Amino acid sequence: MSLNVGNCPTCGKVFAKGTRTVCPACHNEIERQFVLCEKYLRENRKANLQELSDETEVPIKLITRFIKEGRISVYNSPNLHINCDVCGQPMTGGAMCYNCRHRLSHDVLNAAKQESAKIEEAKRASIVFQAKKEE
Ligand SMILES: [Zn+2]
Ligand SMILES: [Zn+2]
Repeated sequence: MSLNVGNCPTCGKVFAKGTRTVCPACHNEIERQFVLCEKYLRENRKANLQELSDETEVPIKLITRFIKEGRISVYNSPNLHINCDVCGQPMTGGAMCYNCRHRLSHDVLNAAKQESAKIEEAKRASIVFQAKKEE
């Protein structure tokens, strides 16, 4: 039997890993903080990130995680902006803002276009090469 144990990324304690990524004590603590945030936001829909953190004593980093995981909806709390991982601009969810997402997909598209252009060029070159051989 293999024991699937690991260190909790939050407190460093060794625990039996199941479906959770943190130990039971930290999991409970995170859940407790989540409930605090949820409750505060229900009563204060216009709260921003700083205010929510100050009032609930939940670190901004953890609140940001809740938002990114979609557990806290910024649609219900329009002032709860988090910052884009890429450019640092305020945004409403996900890993990056609309602009960065747009730019990234644009870049990927351009790269794909350049790649297919190269393939076309190579094909043409080989056709020319074959044609020359048959002469
Ligand atoms: Zn822990
Ligand atoms: Zn961005």
